[in-house]
Amino acid sequence: MSRGDSETLFEIRDLEVSFDVGKRGFFSGTRKQLKAVDGVSFDIRRGETVGLVGESGSGKTTVGRAILRVIEPSGGQVLYHGRRGDLDLAHATSEELRAARAEMQMVFREGGLDLAPLGPRALRPLRSRMSLVFQDPYSSLNPRMTVRDIIAEPLVAGGLMRDRGQIDARVREIAARCKLDLEHLRRFPHAFSGGQRQRICIARALVAGPDFVVCDESVSALDVSIQAEIINLLKDLQEETGVSFLFIAHDLSVVARISHRVAVMYVGRFVEYAPTESLFFHPRHPYTHALLSAVPEPDPDLPFRPERLQGEIPNPADAPQGCRFHTRCPFARPRCAQEVPDWRELTSDHYVACHYAEEFDFRRARETAHTDPVKEREPT
Ligand code: SF4
Repeated sequence: MSRGDSETLFEIRDLEVSFDVGKRGFFSGTRKQLKAVDGVSFDIRRGETVGLVGESGSGKTTVGRAILRVIEPSGGQVLYHGRRGDLDLAHATSEELRAARAEMQMVFREGGLDLAPLGPRALRPLRSRMSLVFQDPYSSLNPRMTVRDIIAEPLVAGGLMRDRGQIDARVREIAARCKLDLEHLRRFPHAFSGGQRQRICIARALVAGPDFVVCDESVSALDVSIQAEIINLLKDLQEETGVSFLFIAHDLSVVARISHRVAVMYVGRFVEYAPTESLFFHPRHPYTHALLSAVPEPDPDLPFRPERLQGEIPNPADAPQGCRFHTRCPFARPRCAQEVPDWRELTSDHYVACHYAEEFDFRRARETAHTDPVKEREPT
């Protein structure tokens, strides 16, 4: 499904992540496997935000961490195409040159570099190119470190800079971009609110100039007004630096505000992947339709008819045969319980896994939709 052009940063092909969850039965010698991610394929372009949504337990976080190799994939490929040639060789510091040399040796091969089989040593030079922002800005900051030391940590731990003056200059630069008060760099995290702490986390994630950042439910724990601030900050930083984001969230209305394309996940598999506008106004999978119809409308005069999903999301260790959504799908037919639907391109750049997607067009009228991704992306 990749376009395979120079705009592609990652190609993820048939990604699988399994966990051993014990014996099948008391007397059985075979182990039971939980497939948290099962055959996921998609691509991420440079300077793009891909939203990843689904209910808790669908495997969203596992996909993000498997791409970063924080979790070991058990199958498939994660092809990384390196960064743009934005290193000024004439003025680069020796640390920058060393990091670039290591990267060039490893990355700029034909067809990209497959991260999946690389060991920790081989991955080390690439660590500064990828980063992660966690959900909880309270537990993800070390309370004994100053803000300056927290932000500087990736530079120091990755051996990218050693000179204290250089490190201070870089920390101040990224802190200013993240709209942090430079007077506060000597303070400790307990002195800050949730929104300010998340800005510190974002500054730490971006200080080494990564190509790619996974934001894992990074605004879910914040108040609505702070959420909007952080989303605007991420958009501004993307425009300035060209970084790509994988934005993981369970709230579709939040994802719409930041994403160029959105993937919907259910029990370890992708069920739909499309440009944000196409997915929001022409969803083709019944699960996407159900998630969208559950987004409340703030205007009491507008109709609000949530498509109630029956039952609970199945346990991935006992995932249903055929289409995994058939146990809850109001449109399921006998074939759905037998055959796994193919992952196919239904219209240009709009992918879906449903036997009957051609019959469904859960069109939403723009004027009655609370969340308009196009309007949300326009500058105010
Ligand atoms: Fe529903 Fe069948 Fe489509 Fe699955 S394949 S989403 S069960 S109609």
